[in-house]
Amino acid sequence: MVEIIWHQNPLRSEVLLNDNDKQLLWHKVKIEELLNGMCGAHMYIQDALKSRWWVPAGIIKKALKELDYTDAIDAEVDRMTEVCIQDLRGWHMGDCTCFANSCAKCHAEHMLGIDTIKGLGKHAGSYVSSAFDSTVLGAPERTTAEAIDVLINRDDSEKTDTWSNYSDEQWDKLVARWNGERKEAIKWLKVYQANL
Ligand SMILES: [Zn+2]
Repeated sequence: MVEIIWHQNPLRSEVLLNDNDKQLLWHKVKIEELLNGMCGAHMYIQDALKSRWWVPAGIIKKALKELDYTDAIDAEVDRMTEVCIQDLRGWHMGDCTCFANSCAKCHAEHMLGIDTIKGLGKHAGSYVSSAFDSTVLGAPERTTAEAIDVLINRDDSEKTDTWSNYSDEQWDKLVARWNGERKEAIKWLKVYQANL
């Protein structure tokens, strides 16, 4: 069982690995790397067969290159395992919090079969992320209780110019959706706080 240091901000809980965990992660990264190669080779062949019934020699060469097994793979796995170890100590930021990129921490946790933000939807995750953000430079980090208060007191109902092309009806629906996501974030954070 890996060690997890739960933080007041759930998006930055740290996952710490001992030597056995690191070795297990290394093998999981290697399996993923080999699978990526197989998927790459499969894609080359599949693409080639879309427009003809045979696979040209050049494509076969490319596919075989994807399946090449060399010592360079282990060096790459070493590097990627180190990146994963860093990501496990980092912050959740990506699709889990509605940012337009995949979350490296989620990916690393998934490899180990753990999830430090289990049950948190991405829209609620975005609210959780914003609740811990302070606009005041150098302000101390918020506690879970403070973040919950921020979300309780947040009011998204003022229609700014950005939304001027929305009819009142569309705007009301949007605000209702946001309020639902905000409440989901509050509920999730309260459960998280109770377990801290
Ligand atoms: Zn994440």
